[in-house]
Amino acid sequence: MKTPQRITVHEFAMQLSECVRRSTTRPKLIPLWSFHHLACHLCNAKLSTATAHISIHDARFPNCVGDGQVFMTEIIFCYRCEPPPEPYGCLHV
Ligand SMILES: [Zn+2]
Repeated sequence: MKTPQRITVHEFAMQLSECVRRSTTRPKLIPLWSFHHLACHLCNAKLSTATAHISIHDARFPNCVGDGQVFMTEIIFCYRCEPPPEPYGCLHV
């Protein structure tokens, strides 16, 4: 999946949820948000993670404006089928 860019927390959560749902190989055995048993739905490779820094922006403004808060998260992706996620992104809240 891609690093979030100018989307809401809800949209990012939906993207993450869809990616996990699509990639889960043993849905009844894995704990929620454990990425260790996820495999690419295209090539079946074990999914990788990349660290991304996410800035928090104010959704009331059209451009990326915020108070400077940044958090780090892991973005899951397939190293065979996808380019590495961008190291920086933002969420508009
Ligand atoms: Zn793949």
